[in-house]
Amino acid sequence: MSAARKPLIAGNWKMNGTRKEGLALAKGIAKQMKKLNKKKTKPAFEMLVCPPYTLIERVAAALKGTGVKIGAQDCHTAEKGAHTGDISPVMLKDMGCRYVIVGHSERRADHGEKDAPTKAKAEAALAAGLTAIVCVGETLAQRDGKRTLAVIRSQIRASLPEGATAKNTVVAYEPVWAIGTGRVATPDQAQEVHAAIRGLLVTLLGEKDGDGMRILYGGSMKPDNAKELLSLPDVDGGLIGGASLKADDFLGIAVKS
Ligand code: PEP
Repeated sequence: MSAARKPLIAGNWKMNGTRKEGLALAKGIAKQMKKLNKKKTKPAFEMLVCPPYTLIERVAAALKGTGVKIGAQDCHTAEKGAHTGDISPVMLKDMGCRYVIVGHSERRADHGEKDAPTKAKAEAALAAGLTAIVCVGETLAQRDGKRTLAVIRSQIRASLPEGATAKNTVVAYEPVWAIGTGRVATPDQAQEVHAAIRGLLVTLLGEKDGDGMRILYGGSMKPDNAKELLSLPDVDGGLIGGASLKADDFLGIAVKS
């Protein structure tokens, strides 16, 4: 982590939680955040949760006043219109979202989403006043084929929104083989990719925005491996899946690190 970039801990709840379960989790996070805020041991991190659409409003209400921000897990490219089943970034903003994840590998795998729609979604998010979290990551076959850096650079070039700045865009490096598998990238593997992303961001966006943009690591991050990963020079926080579904683990990542 660099002192110049405020690290972000973002929870991706994925397709988990009935209204009752979502509210209980949000209340658990709120309770712990309130305690931390009182003790003045408030995490030095910006905290964010991205629940399913159905829970956004409830979770936002439960987390009001705690400093934890709300985001969504995907959005459409259009503001509104004939797109059955989709949700626009304007609607997300209207519900109190500040961030939206785009191009997650599960969207890429489940819905065939490639770099071009990811970029279009990120641009729609920016136009609506949201911050886009643009996900990239290599598969195990690509890593084994020694193509990791080429794959990541190509995804970044093709997915980064036009008009990206350090303020409106965050990159998440999530090796596909580490997501939900319990297999985490080693610090050397993570830093190598994060440094390559940083170099490319500086080339594409210039020194100020390239250096200032946050790059999150995602893939089986937990309280017991977070500290080492978050201490790497180009890792500016985490995108957390499984461990964000337990308030203790989610907060534990931020507090222990
Ligand atoms: C994710 O889905 O973004 C993720 C990193 O999941 P997990 O932490 O469960 O590997």
